[in-house]
Amino acid sequence: MKHITRKTLGALLALVMVLALLPAMTTTAWADHAHHFTYSASGATITATCDADGCNLTDNKVTLTIGDPTNIYYDDKSSSHEFTLVGLEAFNSATGKTISASDIVYYKGDPQSQDIKNNNVKGATYKARLTVEGVRAEHSFKFTAKPIVHTHSFTYTANGAVITATCTQNAANMEACDLTNKQATLTLNAPLHTTYGDGKDANATFTGEIPGVTNLTIHYSKGSVTLNSAPVDAGTYTAWCQLGNATARVEYTIAKATNPGWTTLPQAKTGLVYSGQPQALITAGVAGGGNALYTVGTDPDNEPNVDAGGRPYTSSVPEATNAGTYYVWCKIDGGKNYTSIAAQKIAVTIAKATPTDLATPTDLTATYGDTLSSVTLPQGWAWADGSQSVGNVGPHTFKANYTPADTGNYNTVENVDVTVTVEKANITPTVTITGWTEGGKANAPTLEGNTGNGDVTFTYAKQGSQDFTEEVPTKAGKYTVKATVAATDNYNGATATADFTISRQIVDTTPVSSLTVTSDLGTITRVTVDGKTVDSKYYTVSGSNVVLSDEFIRSLANGTHTIRLYDGKTYATATWNVTGNTAADIKSATTADPGLALYGLLAVSSTLGLGYMGKKRKAA
Ligand SMILES: [Zn+2]
Ligand SMILES: [Zn+2]
Repeated sequence: MKHITRKTLGALLALVMVLALLPAMTTTAWADHAHHFTYSASGATITATCDADGCNLTDNKVTLTIGDPTNIYYDDKSSSHEFTLVGLEAFNSATGKTISASDIVYYKGDPQSQDIKNNNVKGATYKARLTVEGVRAEHSFKFTAKPIVHTHSFTYTANGAVITATCTQNAANMEACDLTNKQATLTLNAPLHTTYGDGKDANATFTGEIPGVTNLTIHYSKGSVTLNSAPVDAGTYTAWCQLGNATARVEYTIAKATNPGWTTLPQAKTGLVYSGQPQALITAGVAGGGNALYTVGTDPDNEPNVDAGGRPYTSSVPEATNAGTYYVWCKIDGGKNYTSIAAQKIAVTIAKATPTDLATPTDLTATYGDTLSSVTLPQGWAWADGSQSVGNVGPHTFKANYTPADTGNYNTVENVDVTVTVEKANITPTVTITGWTEGGKANAPTLEGNTGNGDVTFTYAKQGSQDFTEEVPTKAGKYTVKATVAATDNYNGATATADFTISRQIVDTTPVSSLTVTSDLGTITRVTVDGKTVDSKYYTVSGSNVVLSDEFIRSLANGTHTIRLYDGKTYATATWNVTGNTAADIKSATTADPGLALYGLLAVSSTLGLGYMGKKRKAA
């Protein structure tokens, strides 16, 4: 906008009037405000104040101020030392002037100097003046020397957690190094996080400052392994940082947290009974920190020895199958972050089971007179008192115990009532009887073995006949006596027999002068009388028959004599009587060989030949 003066206002009005007369033109309002300035100066500032109506300037004024130079150091020739003009553009725009920095007039003391224009200022106070529309602003400024700029040149050394930066800037500038002893330190501090779970900062920190060193990276290592971030787990670590060739380290430990222990205790199972299958011995506990571990053994005093085959600790709940008392050892392995909890034992018992195959024995029998020990029981069973008598005939109940095959896992069952049926006992009677001579007194039979004292009946029959009668025989012959024993309450009946002979009585007084003896032996080879061998000149042999000579007979004394015939294998014996001094009186004939199927045939003959032949008889 041009500055409009009163001189030109009339011309402008005339122009407006001319334009208004142009029929083709529309009427246009004159928007511009024409400033009407008056100028004043105060200190370093010149003020242009507009007194026209409708001024759009703030407070109707615009100012221009002389400011300090940009380059304030007299010894810095790198840029101009001219003073600045503050508000220049706005001032020129409002006033329509073309003021610039070159309009400033400088003075140094008196007289005037052109040092600033020549960029050759001194360390002194310069005065600047600017004159606009006859008013003059003034500003003074003292140039100073440019301060010495010190740039640190560090070498770094480390000692443990401390890095020391030592400034080695050259001696010319060294006096300006502001560091104490030309050194600065940075100390690496271990994290505040010292116990697992303490919630404190896991990052290492620095104290101290080395100028120009910021955001130094902190590394973390465990052993030789570099970690990705600051560790939070328990362990021993090294935090480190590197600056130049110097590495600071601080070793620190994050301790394990004290284990809260069992938040739920392991519990022994109760009421366990042998089932043949593995059964869990406890209900698992809950570890507050780390892992619950279990093992089991049977020694109440010592944990299982793994080297000796014992169960190792595992997180599995121990099981057992066989009946018995077990000791479950429970402990907490705190792992990497918690302390551990020592093992505690829990006693757990699996009781023996009652046998499921228990079947009371039946159909047992015994014989009167037995003891229970003679009554055989099934496998596993035994009488409570085997020495006990079974008692009288009939059913009786006795106590028996059952011992299972697996006594380790099953209970013995005692005092079970078992019925035994007692039956009558057999008897084995024997009867004996001595034969007699026909016409003599009958011998009574003798019975042995009538244990039950049953009633006894004796009956008789000829041998080979079953026609027994109670009548005692009298005639010579071979008989059988039978004893019949009746049954009693506790004994069965029985019979016994014995054979016997009623011998024939031979009476003959006829004198004889020779004796013929016949037998059913083989050919006779030897003859004895009264135990002495008879010379063969005193007898003749005819097969199994012998004839003793009259001469021999006459040599015998009166009385009973015994003759025995031998056939080389066996013999037969007979006795006879000699009465008078020449006669042989056969009073009886018996054999001395009971049990042998031996027949002796005895005869007496006269000198005229066979006079008498005895009956053949069988030895008893
Ligand atoms: Zn104005
Ligand atoms: Zn320095």
